[in-house]
Amino acid sequence: MAPTFRRETSIISLMLPSSTVENYLKAIYHGEALLASGERLVPMGQVAAALGVTPGTATTMVKALAESGLAEYEPYSGVRLTAAGEKLAGLVLRRHRLVELFLVKVMGMSWAEVHEEGEQLEHVVSERLIERIDDMLGHPTHDPHGDPIPNPEGAITPREFDTLLTCPIGEPLTVTRIADQDPAFLRFIESNDLKPGQSVEVKTRDAAADAVKLQGKNNRVITIGTRAASKLLVEPTGS
Ligand SMILES: [Zn+2]
Repeated sequence: MAPTFRRETSIISLMLPSSTVENYLKAIYHGEALLASGERLVPMGQVAAALGVTPGTATTMVKALAESGLAEYEPYSGVRLTAAGEKLAGLVLRRHRLVELFLVKVMGMSWAEVHEEGEQLEHVVSERLIERIDDMLGHPTHDPHGDPIPNPEGAITPREFDTLLTCPIGEPLTVTRIADQDPAFLRFIESNDLKPGQSVEVKTRDAAADAVKLQGKNNRVITIGTRAASKLLVEPTGS
């Protein structure tokens, strides 16, 4: 019986659970996406905070990743993934996002609840099962939250989207992605008809009042805070 769940992370010579390795790879991957242009390395404090561990623990682990060729670590500066590490992180996200979509579309679970299931299952589903899910769902490009699903090589074609804070005012837009997995926030989005695929238009933005006024489905007008607005990614309708 092949222990398929260890996958390529078994190249790590240390006895580390593959789920731990995968969670570090994901945290660094997401950290890199948040880097300002010109910044190369994700600060170790940020990696530690994302994983809820002490900086010392994070450093020990990141050094092990570096020895395995999955990351580049620079003491006192930070860490970034190598091409091999980036591919593995992409494959974890592929499993996570396909599982989420499967749970919503096939199992009928709420899109607000599936992230936690994805966090667990991303480490244990086999490649065979995930490719079967991919086939069954018709090779989808996005999960229920609008997050892109990496291809079988773990790669994503990057696309830049405006948020409801940065988009043009008074133009028809389509919600593409919700950049927050908190169930309460997702339920708020759902109850206001702002899920990916919905039409929306920004009527006004008032920085002083911390308010963004939107017109959504059936011309319903709602006002949301700027923090919430920054988590809704949109594109011009028809693009
Ligand atoms: Zn998720």
